[in-house]
Amino acid sequence: MADCELLSGCLFFNDKMPMETGLGALFKKNYCQGDNSKCARYIVAKKLGRDKVPTNLYPNMFDEAEKLIAQG
Ligand code: SF4
Repeated sequence: MADCELLSGCLFFNDKMPMETGLGALFKKNYCQGDNSKCARYIVAKKLGRDKVPTNLYPNMFDEAEKLIAQG
């Protein structure tokens, strides 16, 4: 799979968010360099715009992403 097109500048990918190292690496493999269509940050960025992605939204917070989108 291709790398996520939002890699550059993504707070999560660039280690600007606190994350346990092993878990962070796993998320990067699964989402950033795997299937970004399931990433909460990616989903919100695509639907609402990159500036609407909360700084503390982690890739696995899919439910939270759906809530944000429902709220617009
Ligand atoms: S955290 Fe999500 S938006 Fe950021 S680079 Fe990874 S897949 Fe893309």
